[in-house]
Amino acid sequence: MAYTTSEHAAPLSDISALEDLLPRIRSVIQRPDSAFVPLHEPVFSGKEREYVTDCIETGWVSSVGSYVDRFEKELAEFLGVKRVIATVNGTAALHLCLAAEGISTGDEVLVPGLTFVATANAVSYTGAKPHFCETDAELPILCPRKLENYLDEIATIGEDGYCVNSITGNKIKAVVPMHCFGHPVDMDALNTVAGKFNITVIEDAAESLGSTYKGRQTGGLARMGAISFNGNKIITSGGGGAVATNDTELGDLLKHMSTTAKVSGENFFDHDMVGYNYRLPNINAALGCAQLEQLTSYIETKRQIAARYRAAFDGYNAAEFLPEPEHTRSNYWLCAIRFNDDTFLQDALRLTHESNIMTRPVWTLMPDLPMYGNCPSMKLDNARALSRRIMTLPSSVNLL
Ligand SMILES: *Cc1c(COP(=O)(O)O)cnc(C)c1O
Repeated sequence: MAYTTSEHAAPLSDISALEDLLPRIRSVIQRPDSAFVPLHEPVFSGKEREYVTDCIETGWVSSVGSYVDRFEKELAEFLGVKRVIATVNGTAALHLCLAAEGISTGDEVLVPGLTFVATANAVSYTGAKPHFCETDAELPILCPRKLENYLDEIATIGEDGYCVNSITGNKIKAVVPMHCFGHPVDMDALNTVAGKFNITVIEDAAESLGSTYKGRQTGGLARMGAISFNGNKIITSGGGGAVATNDTELGDLLKHMSTTAKVSGENFFDHDMVGYNYRLPNINAALGCAQLEQLTSYIETKRQIAARYRAAFDGYNAAEFLPEPEHTRSNYWLCAIRFNDDTFLQDALRLTHESNIMTRPVWTLMPDLPMYGNCPSMKLDNARALSRRIMTLPSSVNLL
């Protein structure tokens, strides 16, 4: 066995259980033992080169050009929403949603305690404070039932109709569920809780493009949804993002805010509010259009990869494959396993890395980061346990 123990690097876990880990992963990825297997890499197998070359040859690479309109239109059709606004990245998309909703200093926004830092950062950009929410026991997604019980305890409805945190006195204006690894949050339950407390729902659908909840696309299940097209997401535009909404007036405002709030008219430089330069460049939209044409087949492939991992981990006593929630069809952006206790993760990461297989833990809990240590928070027992037990697995569409 290629595993050495010394006093300072003693295995924390039951190594005999982990001995079985690599063969199970290898049975899915089927690459030579010497090959480096990334967690997630982009695949360009369609018209990417053609569309990007078109931008370069015509000179339309930047803030104006037909691919942006086309990307927005095709994405809106795919999602089944009225409006899509393409942005420079997913974080900007989230920020734009919150800003358009009028969220600012003195407000609080409910976000998962276990998420990528961008969800909380976008809230901070507005001047508001993130307020961290607990996950499900089994899956790293927000638990609407726990949120309702919590709000019943700490929240009241003020005279102006806003939900108020009775401990801090701040308004709780929005909740941002995040569909982790493509696994959708129970949106009917969450929308009901949010309705009861008059809180706006903004989906962080950065990871879940193409995932459905009760047959409907994530990103289109609330007032607004934010999507990411970063290089590691299910499809990429190099860098990029989008906001989806069914409210056309709000869509106009979002577009206006994302394009420096420029007013069309006789004057060249009329701007009627503090806007943002968040528009997606045309050359990125071109890449996005080509990738979008392949999204449906990518999702099929991802689901096949997931089915193989699920079978490979069937009967494994140290961990379970992370399944999709009820009533949903996940895009399985990243496949993951959940160890049965806290002792396995560090050794499992080390073993896989020693074998050239890239794996990752889930994120550090937001309140454990220095800038978010003093934010209001639910008890995060589930989120903390999951953060010590979940490991993501190589999930690129070119694995099969
Ligand atoms: C990727 C991601 C974002 C941010 O998207 P960028 O395009 O990288 O800015 C936001 N939230 C979550 C959950 C993400 O995974």
